[in-house]
Amino acid sequence: MPRSVFSSLEMIRKLVSYDTTSRDSNLALIDFVRGYLKEYGVESELFYDTEKRKANLFATLGPRDRGGVMLSGHTDVVPVDGQDWSSDPFTIVERDGKLFGRGTCDMKSFVAIALALVPEFLARPLKTPIHLAFSYDEEVGCVGVRSMIAALASRPIRPACCIVGEPTLMKPVIAHKGKISVRCTVRGLESHSALTHLGVNAVEAAAEVIAYLKGMARRRRDHGPFDHQFAPPYTTVHTGVVQGGTALNIVPKDCSFVFEFRTLPGDPPEPLLEEVKRFAAGLVPEMQAVSAETGISFEILTSTPGLNEAPNSEVAELVYALSGANDAGKVSFGTEAGLFQEVAIPTIVCGPGSIDEAHRPNEFVALDQVRQCEAFLRRLIDRVAA
Ligand SMILES: [Zn+2]
Repeated sequence: MPRSVFSSLEMIRKLVSYDTTSRDSNLALIDFVRGYLKEYGVESELFYDTEKRKANLFATLGPRDRGGVMLSGHTDVVPVDGQDWSSDPFTIVERDGKLFGRGTCDMKSFVAIALALVPEFLARPLKTPIHLAFSYDEEVGCVGVRSMIAALASRPIRPACCIVGEPTLMKPVIAHKGKISVRCTVRGLESHSALTHLGVNAVEAAAEVIAYLKGMARRRRDHGPFDHQFAPPYTTVHTGVVQGGTALNIVPKDCSFVFEFRTLPGDPPEPLLEEVKRFAAGLVPEMQAVSAETGISFEILTSTPGLNEAPNSEVAELVYALSGANDAGKVSFGTEAGLFQEVAIPTIVCGPGSIDEAHRPNEFVALDQVRQCEAFLRRLIDRVAA
């Protein structure tokens, strides 16, 4: 039976056609990838979520008895809800040297180009294996990939290094910020708003905590620590959503809000969280003097480590050679790279497209970026072939 052959563009078109918004299943895409690899005699290993609605896929090209280079990408995309697209987000439109579609830059193009080049990898006797690691639920806090990483980390033979193809305009990125997202829930006590002394105002308590967080943000902005290779060059603190209160004439019983710390390497989030918890604890005695049922609690929603790879590490040198760059940058957006580094798989981020286009309506990848990524991976083939 003739095997399927895709150009990079055809493969990008194919992958983008699967609506893999994080809240939905990615299995149709994963099944397609598994079937395609199988045509080339490459077996895929799947790591499912608990409901078997989503899966990570791991596959190895070449020898299985040694480390190798892992090419990593996420298959999920952010929602298009409420975005004003000028064409169907799941149908590639080529215009002005760009491919428009959801996931073109973040980050199906890297995954697609790696897949399109599988026949070229396999046509050469590989002395170093290439691993393909495709995840789900990256966009909701790098949640999905963790089961695959745990499995890889427990094996006697594991990938020697990893390239995460998030959009960096094909420039090597050796560091990114870490992130934790936290929900704060304030429980107060309802009363008539004319009788504020009988109630505990949850919205006001939340507001004090939020204002304190803003103060922490200003302190980091003005006094650091700083790393000027990041933009912005300091740890950021941000409150994104607040919910609380029902009517002006009711002292509100409930209020909750979500906030995040995006931390520089070397500025761990735990002390920041402890600091805001300490501040909140200082508000509680006044609340509990009215009712013992009241209080303030914190729940970590997601926690993703930052990436901090040495600029002269082996994987960095490899990616410089493949990309033609002679130095590396640092970025503020998070990726799965920090999770790989956490299990001692040296990792660099380098992929086609610009993060500026990610998550936006009319997301695109420039054709020139696609060509650069192809050239990058073909140089990799030359390096790993015997
Ligand atoms: Zn991404």
